[in-house]
Formats: sequence, structure tokens, C-alpha cells
Amino acid sequence: PSQGKNMHSALVIGGAGFLGSHVVEQLVNHGEYVVSVFDIQEPNDESRVSGVTYVQGSVVDATSIANVIKELQPLIVLHTASPVHGLPPKIYYEVNETGTQNVISACRAAGVKKLIYTSSTGVVWTGAEFNGVSEDQINFPAKGYDAYHHTKGLGERLILAAEGHDGMQTVIIRPCGMTGERDKQLIWRLAEVYDKKQHRVQIGDNTNLVDYAYAGNVAHAHVLACEKLIADPDLVSGQTFFITNGEPLPQ
Ligand code: NAD
Repeated sequence: PSQGKNMHSALVIGGAGFLGSHVVEQLVNHGEYVVSVFDIQEPNDESRVSGVTYVQGSVVDATSIANVIKELQPLIVLHTASPVHGLPPKIYYEVNETGTQNVISACRAAGVKKLIYTSSTGVVWTGAEFNGVSEDQINFPAKGYDAYHHTKGLGERLILAAEGHDGMQTVIIRPCGMTGERDKQLIWRLAEVYDKKQHRVQIGDNTNLVDYAYAGNVAHAHVLACEKLIADPDLVSGQTFFITNGEPLPQ
């Protein structure tokens, strides 16, 4: 498939995970990317994409991520890794703050200039009601909703601080909650609620809204960010994008 095409190398950190594997799959299917993955876990049979090189390691280990980026010399790095919900706070600071700084430092040391950071819509959430929020309307709360959201926000600030230094061109993507193939967090919890008959209890007046998006759509946003960072970086560099299902775009 690579013959005659100008191939770009992409490293997907967290590419063995739910969203990461969708990103990997779409970059490979796109046909113009040679894709590698750096992840603390090996992909399983469902998340492994053929033709992809998988390297096992943690972003918390600065030497490990620096060596991989130096060796692979990717054109673009997509940092999608993060711990799942419900772990002790310390691990979020290690992975989302220190780990993200390690990724940035590794890119700068190796001369990699294009970096996409997967954040979360939740970084701006205080626990209060939010409706119709757009990227330019909102600032970070001083203290995020919990350690996960707080440290995703700290990661964003590190990315924003790196933008423009040594020619770094960055994009931040903030997905809402996601569903889709290989989801490990959402559907079984909903099934559990159903099994425990908790769905018979109504909280509030039944008008609350919450955003969920298909992981494939969120992955598509990552591929579009790659394309733009390569072809027309000034258009997107230094910007943050909320990604939700929202209204369908006109074709
Ligand atoms: P996931 O757990 O399926 O994937 C995350 C991947 O990161 C896993 O493969 C994991 O092994 C890897 N990882 C974790 N710690 C690591 C480390 N120290 N070093 C290297 N790799 C490490 O989770 P997901 O739901 O696919 O989340 C992907 C991204 O999307 C995360 O950044 C998350 O914050 C963000 N996000 C997810 C949701 C959601 O609803 N799932 C919503 C908003 C944002």
C-alpha cells in the first residue's frame, strides 16, 4: 500500500487501548501512515492492528519514552495514554503530568515537532451544569473535578506551554465520554446498573443531558488533526478542540 505514496511515520502512545486502537486502525487504513505504538500493555487480539510495531513501556519512565522517540524519529506523536478512572490520585499525577512532560521533552530532544494530546471535555468541568460550552468560552477551574480530570488539565497546560518552542506544533483534543468497539469502561457499568435494578431510580427531573460520542468519530478527529498538522499546521497549531457527536456535518 505504501508504494508511490509519501508515507508519514506516526507514534501512538496508548495505542493498545480503546480509543488508541481506533486511532491506530484509522491511521493504518488511511494508507499514508507507518504506525508504531508505545503502551504500558501489550495489545490483545481485538486491539492489535496488523502491520503496526508495538513497543511496551511507560511514559513515566523518561528514558524509555525518550529512547523510543529518538529511535523511531516519527513525524508526529499522538499521546492518547492515561490511566482509567477509579485509581489512587498519585498515578494520575505520574502519568498525566510527569508522563506528558516526559513525552514533550522526548519530542523536543529528538526534534519531533508535531504532537497531539488527547485530553477530556471534563477538564473544564466543575461539577456544575454546563450546556453549549465552546472552546473559547471556558477557562480551567483552579481545581479539577477529581485527580483524573485535574491532571488531564495539567497535561494540557504543559502542551500549551510547549507550543512554539523548538518549532513544536501541538493540538489538544478533548473527547466527551466514548462508546464503541473495545470500550472497557462504559457499557459494563451500564449493564451493572441494569443488573442491580438501579435504572428504576430516577435522579433529578429527567432533563439532564450528557454527551457521548462514538470512539471512531473521536479517532477520526485525531486523524484530521494529523492531516492538518502535516499539510497546514498554522490552521490548527496551538488549538484545542472539543469532540462530541453533536450535529452531523453537511457532506
Ligand atoms: P484505555 O485505558 O482503553 O487506553 C489508555 C491506554 O493508555 C491503555 O492502553 C493503557 O495501557 C495506556 N497507558 C496507561 N498508562 C500508561 C503509561 N504510563 N505509559 C504508557 N501507556 C499507558 O482508555 P481510553 O478510554 O481509550 O482513553 C484514551 C484517552 O482518551 C485517554 O487520554 C483518556 O483520558 C481520554 N478520554 C477517554 C474518555 C472515555 O470515555 N473513555 C473520555 C474522554 C477522554
